[in-house]
Formats: sequence, C-alpha cells, structure tokens
Amino acid sequence: MDKTAAPVVELEHVDMTFTQHKGIGQKPIQIHALTDVSLRIEQGEVVALVGESGGGKSTIGNIISGLLKPTGGRLLFDGMDVARMTRQQYTEYRRQVQIVQQDAYAALNPVHTVLHSLSAPLKQKKRVHGRKEALKRVTELLEMVELRPVDQFINKYPHQLSGGQRQRILLARAISLEPRLIIADEPVSMIDVSLRVSALNLMHRLNEQTGISFLYITHDLATARYIGRSGRVAVLYMGQIVEEGPVRDVTTSPKHPYLQTLISVVPIPDPWVARNRRKIELKSLDMPSPANPPSGCRFHTRCPYAQPICEQERPVLREYEGRNVACHLVEEMPGWSLDDYRRPDELAGGGHDGL
Ligand code: SF4
Repeated sequence: MDKTAAPVVELEHVDMTFTQHKGIGQKPIQIHALTDVSLRIEQGEVVALVGESGGGKSTIGNIISGLLKPTGGRLLFDGMDVARMTRQQYTEYRRQVQIVQQDAYAALNPVHTVLHSLSAPLKQKKRVHGRKEALKRVTELLEMVELRPVDQFINKYPHQLSGGQRQRILLARAISLEPRLIIADEPVSMIDVSLRVSALNLMHRLNEQTGISFLYITHDLATARYIGRSGRVAVLYMGQIVEEGPVRDVTTSPKHPYLQTLISVVPIPDPWVARNRRKIELKSLDMPSPANPPSGCRFHTRCPYAQPICEQERPVLREYEGRNVACHLVEEMPGWSLDDYRRPDELAGGGHDGL
C-alpha cells in the first residue's frame, strides 16, 4: 500500500442532515444522519464500517458512491474534491467507485440474462467491442467470482439463481469496470448463513488479486472481523465514528464504552467464554431519536461511565493506543479485552476466529 499517494477516498468532517416533511402546517423535522465524519480508504485497503441500523453507515456508503451529496464537509476522490470536479472527472470517479447492494434480486433486471446484465455496462463504457469480446470478458468475470462451469450460469435469469449466486453476479458487475473501490453494503445479510463465509472469502481474494479497495458495511461485528482481518474497522454510533483502528485491536480490546458493551454481549459459541465474560450493562436500553440526538456525547444517555462533561461537550476522535477513539474519559476507562475471557489453551493456539 503506497502511503504517500492520496487515499482513494476521504471523507473530511462530513455532515448529512435530512429534512422530513410531516404534513401541511407542521414543522419539518431535521434528521442528523451523520455529524463530523472523517474516514480515509487507502488503495488496496479493506475497511469495515460497523453500526446498528439507523446509525448512518449506509448513508456513508451512498455519499462515497455519489448517490447522496453531503450537507457539510468534503468528499475527496484521489485527492480531488468531488463537488468541484469537471463533468469528465465526475464520470471517471463514478466508474472508479462501484457499489454492491444488499438486495441482489432487486439490483438485477429480472428480464435480462447474466450475459446481458454483465455485458451491457461493458459495452456502454466501450470496454468491449462486439458480441465475441463481450462473451470472452463475461466468461472471465464469471470465472473470477467462481461461478463455474460458466455455461451453466451465463444464460440464466436472476430468478433461476440462488441468493449467493446473484450476489456473485453483482460482484462480477462491480469489478467489470475495473474500479478502485467497491462499497459492499450488507452484501451477505440476505444469503444463507452457510454461504456467507464463501462470499466473504471471495471478496477477500478479489481484494488480494486485484488490489481493489473494499468498504464493507455491516451491522455484524463477526463478519466485519472476518472480512477485514488485515484491515481497519470504523464503528458508528448515531451518525458519529466512535472508534476506528486495526480490526483485531478494536474488536478484541475495544476502548469506547459503546463497543465494549456491544462486544461484551455478542454471543460466542463457547460455554466457558459465555460463563466467564464480564458483561457491561447499559444505563438505558432506549435508543435516542436521530431527530433529537442527545447533547455532548451521543452515547451519554446509555453510557455506564458518563460524567457531567459528557452531556456538555461532544468528544472528538483522537488517537489513543494505536487507534482513534471519541470519548472524553478514554484514559480512565476500565480495560476490557476479549483475550481475558479466552481459555489459556485457546490463546496459546492464537484464539478462535469468531469474536
Ligand atoms: Fe461515555 Fe462520556 Fe465516553 Fe461518551 S464521552 S462514551 S458518555 S464516558
């Protein structure tokens, strides 16, 4: 990874506010989906973006892919401000950043075969000329996403494929234009649990083979840890990044109380760990409304360690022990590490790969 080059994509202090109109005579409501979000994705990097539903993670994906314009801050692609690009630069940026949606069935035209769905964008962007070249390239793409033997898939319609196979067609379509970044928004949440690992392995292999960066968006910490095992994770809470850093460090020894709470209750299929793990209790189970977010730290209404400053001032992300954390009291926070709750024999063997 070339650290001197500009990141593929960078969000600089991005805000996103949606206005919801309630009806005639009623005041519109402002929904603060994102506040002061900064995030870099380097060339070839895998970044997992984790958060609860409604936390703003898909909004980030839609901003990076150009589907939404942020209401504040800047989106940079290859060091260039997307809002100031020429038409030609903007077209190139849209080609270089592809998105793979959660619902593969809705994303594919039901009356088009796999061959048509994959060759149409190639022809439109003049990446192939004529039917023969299109067939050759589509065959290569299907091989890359491991849909073999290719002739069993190439003339099928979406309804003739399984959820996992449709997801692979979307990945093939995304890589067909040779992008620099693929945003995968909950890509495995609608496919069978038994097929998820192979879909995650495929993305990991494509990242290694092609050097395409991946932003993997999910609510599931375990899959984030799996796909981003050599990359970074950023954790969102109510539209703000609360902790960001190397996946293993952040998911094993979280520093932010929100993440500590989350990981302390994640089910782990090991009765020894389940019995011995110290669970951290939230002050309240109620999720505040994004239309009326808490002042200061957005987690203060639920945080078991909250102090008066937490209600008054919003903590900014700052470096702490090899990662970035947004918490006023991070230095005083009691340590919490999953490794403390592993059996000694497991630790000696490197630990299991679940959470
Ligand atoms: Fe908890 Fe305060 Fe830290 Fe927010 S800033 S996470 S309320 S201790």
